[in-house]
Amino acid sequence: MKALRKLRAAAGLDLVEIETPDYGPHDVLIRVKRSAICGTDVHIYNWDDWAARTLPVPLTIGHEFVGTVAAVGAEVEGLTPGQRVSAEGHITCGRCRNCRTGRAHICAATIGLGVQRPGCFAEYVVLPARNVFPVPESIPDRIAAFLDPLGNAVHTALSFELAGEDVLITGAGPIGVMAAAIARHVGARRVVVTDVNDARLELARRVGADRAINVTREEPASAFPDLGIHEGFDVVLEMSGKPRAIAQALDLVRPGARLALLGIASAPFELPWNTIVFKGLWLKGIYGREVFETWYKMTALLESGLDLTPVITHELPYTAYEEGFAAMRSGTSGKVILNWEES
Ligand code: NAD
Ligand code: ZN
Repeated sequence: MKALRKLRAAAGLDLVEIETPDYGPHDVLIRVKRSAICGTDVHIYNWDDWAARTLPVPLTIGHEFVGTVAAVGAEVEGLTPGQRVSAEGHITCGRCRNCRTGRAHICAATIGLGVQRPGCFAEYVVLPARNVFPVPESIPDRIAAFLDPLGNAVHTALSFELAGEDVLITGAGPIGVMAAAIARHVGARRVVVTDVNDARLELARRVGADRAINVTREEPASAFPDLGIHEGFDVVLEMSGKPRAIAQALDLVRPGARLALLGIASAPFELPWNTIVFKGLWLKGIYGREVFETWYKMTALLESGLDLTPVITHELPYTAYEEGFAAMRSGTSGKVILNWEES
């Protein structure tokens, strides 16, 4: 089969021919239809310090995909060849306290698909059957390709009540833009998105943000009178990982506000600690997706009309992966989808 692999501990990727993977009695072999490129894949492409510390090479990368079941292991029940599926890419131990009590997304022994084991940028991928999630027919391939990051957005956005609340989303990357669409869909009163990049702010406008503010030119609080916001934002969805965005969010919230924090910072940084204390803020770190509560929620949101098509900016055959990675590395793209059914 064709696979997109990190062959050497250096920048770049190679499209190569390898054996179709073997699968065990509890595994599912999946024929990949579409995959999507994540920021994580860009770190791997660039071979930054995190990638060098984390990845074994050679390795097939990628973790966002939709496909069809090609074969199931002897012990697998409830999945049949031909069925359309995606999968949770965090493979957890199943034995620790968090795994056994419904919090497997924070299992300390998590193995990442396409990071620590062969991923889905290939014609076939293997996953444990318990990680596989059937995809409703109503969700098209081009959307189902990125259920994984949609799950990050849904997990973050549904962490706190949004209906009737004024919501600030810091960072209009693909996940921030999806979060804006979700906040709108579930009935937030005002949805304000900040970024430093106009192309990305335009995507936020297209999914229905009331304001998409470039913080290099405009102070977000100056929009408060127009938006009828008197005491500050009620909820923040932090989707940038940038210290300046987080400090700004702490400043813009009302006392008692809730902040769901998804963005990953590149290094430790200082926080205005006493603002958190004196404003009585609630901070919640968000990692991955709740398995499988988030998956049910996200498919239900899509089935009830959540429209994510504006988030897709590129759809390419897998052979044009360099073009796809270039779009991602430009920092202005939305989701970039690779088609594994045609070359
Ligand atoms: P992204 O890097 O594409 O988007 C981040 C955006 O933040 C960019 O558009 C950038 O221009 C913007 N930004 C930079 N400075 C800003 C500022 N001062 N104010 C507002 N915005 C600013 O990332 P993404 O793929 O959309 O993911 C969002 C974040 O979530 C990233 O930090 C990513 O690493 C992280 N992430 C976390 C998890 C998790 O499980 N916790 C999973 C996936 C991604
Ligand atoms: Zn565990």
